Amino acid sequence: MKQISLLGATGSIGTQTLDVIRNHPEAFRLAAFSAGRNLNLTRKIISEFHPALVSVADKEDCARLKTEFGDSPVVLYGEKGMVETAVYAESDILVNAVLGSVGLLPTLEAIRAGKTVAIANKETLVTAGHLVMDAARRAETEILPIDSEHSAIFQCLQGENRDEIERLIITASGGSFRDYTREQLETVTVKDALNHPNWSMGAKITVDSATMMNKGLEVIEAHWLFGLPFEKIDTILHRESIIHSLVEFRDSSVKAQLGMPDMRIPIQYALGFPKRLPLPDAKRLDLAEIGRLHFEKMDEERFYCLKLAYEAGKAGGSMPAVLNAANEVAVHAFLQEKISFLQIDQLIEKALARHNVIIHPDLETIWAVDRETRDYVASLI
Ligand code: NDP
Ligand code: MG
Repeated sequence: MKQISLLGATGSIGTQTLDVIRNHPEAFRLAAFSAGRNLNLTRKIISEFHPALVSVADKEDCARLKTEFGDSPVVLYGEKGMVETAVYAESDILVNAVLGSVGLLPTLEAIRAGKTVAIANKETLVTAGHLVMDAARRAETEILPIDSEHSAIFQCLQGENRDEIERLIITASGGSFRDYTREQLETVTVKDALNHPNWSMGAKITVDSATMMNKGLEVIEAHWLFGLPFEKIDTILHRESIIHSLVEFRDSSVKAQLGMPDMRIPIQYALGFPKRLPLPDAKRLDLAEIGRLHFEKMDEERFYCLKLAYEAGKAGGSMPAVLNAANEVAVHAFLQEKISFLQIDQLIEKALARHNVIIHPDLETIWAVDRETRDYVASLI
């Protein structure tokens, strides 16, 4: 029985993680979880799963839950509450399904406490991948990917030697606007952006998919998770989202992982690892029904955010933290209809251009860069 701490239980990945736990009471137990501001769902999760510890974003919500539930579960709030959830003594695994770089500190603390970390929260790896991977090496804990592309690569690498990898090929669905020209993108709305063809996800990552920043963040995420230089990480447009990514080895053999687009597959693989568990209500892959799979070269001018992400990744140091912070603020502003879709990459480019890269930034430096970038981008909006 694996005891699980889950950050971001009320989100898209969070609720699908709960579904996996619900389907396997013999294998998993929800020991602790954090939520943001969705109090109604938080109440339901407490009543269904009876965890020992819960954390919410705000102090007032924490007080409300304490009044309603008495002393079980223990209820905490804010950053400290998220960290306590992540390092909860009874837990074996931290599932980080929170949104944005707020996931960084709890992840580092969980690693230091010797927990296995199953990570969906790509902003954490993009912002401070060197610190996360370094902490994991020191603590000798595993970082297991949940993001479908990285889970695919991780699955392809089972039984392989990492020094025999020639290249990673990360597939991209293309998001909501894959067939739009840049001119057509000028007038797209939030509603258009949130209409993803293949995946149902949280709002931020759905916009990231439409700008292709999601693929850029994933390239940087792959760089840290698999320890490969950016020259060995390629992307390809694959509109069906059936092949979740590929690995080419030095003998030119290529392995791929396939499946229907269902995030519960990679979530369950990470939780169960190294065991595969059944997923009874999953839609099976029927290749004859699908018929054809398509692949296209990525256009870097069309998907400008991907180019910015490669540049930031190659610059290294503090640059990816700038990329991420600028993107978080810009996407938030787009979702609030304060800026247009194409202003997202313009704001990010400005933030990257004015930053002088700091090599080997420690956590304090990263926080400072993150804050400064957020303030700068906010001042432009
Ligand atoms: P959602 O927006 O659906 O969920 C985010 C979760 O984080 C919610 O539980 C939310 O709480 C909580 N949260 C948000 N902000 C804060 C905060 N400041 N403090 C504490 N908690 C907070 O996101 P997704 O599930 O879509 O994505 C989560 C992560 O997983 C992202 O990094 C994303 O890139 C990554 N990912 C997502 C995939 C998907 O299919 N959705 C696929 C691969 C990766 P509440 O709602 O209660 O306010
Ligand atoms: Mg992905």
